[in-house]
Amino acid sequence: MKFRDRMANFMQGRYGTDDFSKFLLVATMVLFVLSMFIRHSIVYYLALAILIYSYFRMLSRNISKRASENQRYLDMKDRVTGIFSKNKSYRQQAQDGYRFFKCPNCKQKVRVPKGKGKIRIHCPKCNTDFIKKS
Ligand SMILES: [Zn+2]
Repeated sequence: MKFRDRMANFMQGRYGTDDFSKFLLVATMVLFVLSMFIRHSIVYYLALAILIYSYFRMLSRNISKRASENQRYLDMKDRVTGIFSKNKSYRQQAQDGYRFFKCPNCKQKVRVPKGKGKIRIHCPKCNTDFIKKS
């Protein structure tokens, strides 16, 4: 078996990477750099702990739990970026005539126009179709 095949085989049924793991990776790198300047081992161990945690998430087989963690991270990020940027928040977009539905499969938030009656919503993340009243 080629290495790539073996790797694909190993990752079969495991969660892999998402936005949250990208964030964790950046946090790890920032902390590792900080630990070079701050001569305090706690920063280094914290970076190590986050690194181990992000690997644990990547290799996890509990996909729905990892996906909901990612969703929580995205919600938090949305709130934070909503404070610091002029990006419209979900709430503002809702007032502008959009509704948000959670994908029943992966809990991804999908934005749809309001007042269209019963519509088929397509999840861009996991390609599930579901019907909702908008
Ligand atoms: Zn989905």
